[in-house]
Amino acid sequence: MGNPFDLSGRAAIVTGANTGLGQALAVALAQAGADIVAVGRSAMDETQGLVAAAGRRCHAIKADLSTIAPVSAIVEETLATFGRLDILVNNAGIIRRADAVDFTEEDWDAVIDTNLKSVFFLCQAAGCHMLAQGAGKIINIASMLSFQGGIRVPSYTASKSGVAGLTRLLANEWAGRGVNVNAIAPGYFATNNTAALQADETRNRAILERIPAGRWGQPADLGGAAVFLASRASDYVHGHILAVDGGWLAR
Ligand code: NAD
Repeated sequence: MGNPFDLSGRAAIVTGANTGLGQALAVALAQAGADIVAVGRSAMDETQGLVAAAGRRCHAIKADLSTIAPVSAIVEETLATFGRLDILVNNAGIIRRADAVDFTEEDWDAVIDTNLKSVFFLCQAAGCHMLAQGAGKIINIASMLSFQGGIRVPSYTASKSGVAGLTRLLANEWAGRGVNVNAIAPGYFATNNTAALQADETRNRAILERIPAGRWGQPADLGGAAVFLASRASDYVHGHILAVDGGWLAR
């Protein structure tokens, strides 16, 4: 049967792969053997270099996922480039911070559109292909705020709680048809997304004191979870939200 974590010959779409967690996820999947379609708003040069260094192919697609306009073209271009689509990682996401009483409709819509609406329609577009082939792995990037309320991030909490619910719904519909839909909930990771928290001395100290592992996560800490959920090793895992959080939720 070989190595159950081997992704050789598979093709994976990773959104928001130019930086942070998305780049680390793309590199981890490539190191396990997958070719990568790196989707995002910005240049993918660095990610392409890292995937090439892992010995795999990386095709970049420029797309703005604040609307669902590019969604079907992303799946079509993946199939045209690699002739297959086995794995989708919905990682692209944004966050807006303000007190709930001051929160604007613009900050609500921007986050929900990118973090939830585009995620669902990418699942749908990739899922149609995967259901037709009777196999596929979808990994959505959730958050601690899929479990907790958070503070000053109402649209982000709503979007990530929504991602957890959507992951379970899709698992219910597709588990019996060979498609695994799961999520990874990263704890506090040192990326652009959390730069404001890392820079705020008080919040930074409070966060570190609460993490049993005693440190911020590094993007590479997510790789093992992604490879597991993308591989044959997780064939009987459906609708699970896998926390990779240094123990945050255990506290
Ligand atoms: P980041 O800001 O470094 O990366 C976000 C990525 O999403 C970037 O590649 C960005 O270009 C892309 N993106 C944003 N809007 C886009 C759009 N409209 N179209 C295309 N791409 C777009 O942040 P990160 O920490 O690497 O975040 C990655 C994911 O992980 C996000 O979904 C985030 O919510 C989630 N997350 C992060 C943490 C953390 O601690 N860093 C914790 C929990 C969840």
